[in-house]
Amino acid sequence: MFKKILIANRGEIALRVQRACRELGIKAVMVYSEADREAKYVKLAEEAVCIGPAPSPQSYLNMPAIISAAEVTDAEAIHPGYGFLSENADFAERVEKSGFQFIGPTPESIRLMGDKVSAKQAMIKAGVPCVPGSEGELPDDPAVIKKTAKAIGYPVIIKAAGGGGGRGMRVVHTEAALINAVQMTKAEAGAAFGNPAVYMEKFLQDPRHIEIQILADKHRNAVYLGERDCSMQRRHQKIIEEAPAPGIPRKLIEKIGDRCAAACKKIGYRGAGTFEFLYENGEFYFIEMNTRVQVEHPVTELITGIDIVKTQILVAAGEKLPFTQRDIGIRGHAIECRVNAEDPYKFTPSPGRITLWHAPGGPGVRVDSHVYNNYFVPPNYDSMIGKIIVHGDTREQALARMRTALLETVVEGINTNIPLHRELMVDAKFMAGGTNIHYLEQWLSHHKR
Ligand code: ADP
Repeated sequence: MFKKILIANRGEIALRVQRACRELGIKAVMVYSEADREAKYVKLAEEAVCIGPAPSPQSYLNMPAIISAAEVTDAEAIHPGYGFLSENADFAERVEKSGFQFIGPTPESIRLMGDKVSAKQAMIKAGVPCVPGSEGELPDDPAVIKKTAKAIGYPVIIKAAGGGGGRGMRVVHTEAALINAVQMTKAEAGAAFGNPAVYMEKFLQDPRHIEIQILADKHRNAVYLGERDCSMQRRHQKIIEEAPAPGIPRKLIEKIGDRCAAACKKIGYRGAGTFEFLYENGEFYFIEMNTRVQVEHPVTELITGIDIVKTQILVAAGEKLPFTQRDIGIRGHAIECRVNAEDPYKFTPSPGRITLWHAPGGPGVRVDSHVYNNYFVPPNYDSMIGKIIVHGDTREQALARMRTALLETVVEGINTNIPLHRELMVDAKFMAGGTNIHYLEQWLSHHKR
């Protein structure tokens, strides 16, 4: 097992990985930008290295600074967290070439899944169902593009092969608008992602976002840890996640989960990963794979009792998965609310000093957050300041616990989206379960404030 790991991230996930290291008796080296000097996990760290000024290109995205921090502290492995360099194949490669273990999949797997066209092709080959669409990248010939769209059936969506973060997509309803839309998406994709390749998919009307968590080791063992429902989104950004997904038959989940685990074995995947699907009319359609730990991993930890971050570290060190598919059971229901420093209804960011922070507690309540009284939320990064996660025997109990937890939470000095979460936890449709990916935006557009 590693003796020392460097954590190449910030905020709640840096703290989450630090906690896992402590439990495993591994020393954790924290890195921080000048804006994060006051972070508690930095103060509590055995070792911490400043890697640059506040802007992330000069700190959390600065590969040479991170690798030299690992060198000077004698770390053996690097945990990338999520965001920043976590899905950067070049970084993973440089980490390994410099003699460190990257806590995640191989650079080849990251590259394969980072390009959505190659990811989809690999999934089709592995027997994972995908959204009907073009066979790979769209060619230039307008006649072929039109023929492809006709065969798929309108509406279609044009997507950038290198896209991410909900950007680089365009929905097309008629043939008249098709060629122009393809050209515009190509131009944008080239400018934004350095890769003009685009592909086409059937645009699904009212799907839910359902994803499968997997864990795999270096010995070709792979398991799935059930699913998460992340349909409560605004601008393709998740704000509430839960597990299990309300109303989806277990048989269907088991079938798709088995396919995902088999695909991992087939491509030699290792570490934690998530297969994202759109789910409509009882069918799953693969859209992309995330090759890292996700923000919403705690809901899965609560229903399975498996520590995903600790397992990531164990398998990176070469250990076998300490459980098989048969050992994985699902107990109760978990819900996560992402707490963002922003106006709850206008969504303008609200960085600044937190003058009062009171976190909730009680049975079945978990808070993953790096903030504390008098903490300054820097304006330079993502607005998420923590997550409130609850577990109950039933979904109703989990909802009740979340309502209580949100009622207890006090944050003063900045705005947060807690008032929005409080309203959603008593919304009849959300309470009934199974809302689709458009529900939150529709709800917001009718909301009276
Ligand atoms: P990104 O990597 O940018 O997050 P995804 O491929 O994961 O891109 O898609 C993000 C979101 O866009 C999905 O959660 C869904 O809301 C919407 N979307 C993507 N593909 C389709 C599709 N074929 N039909 C309908 N909605 C889609």
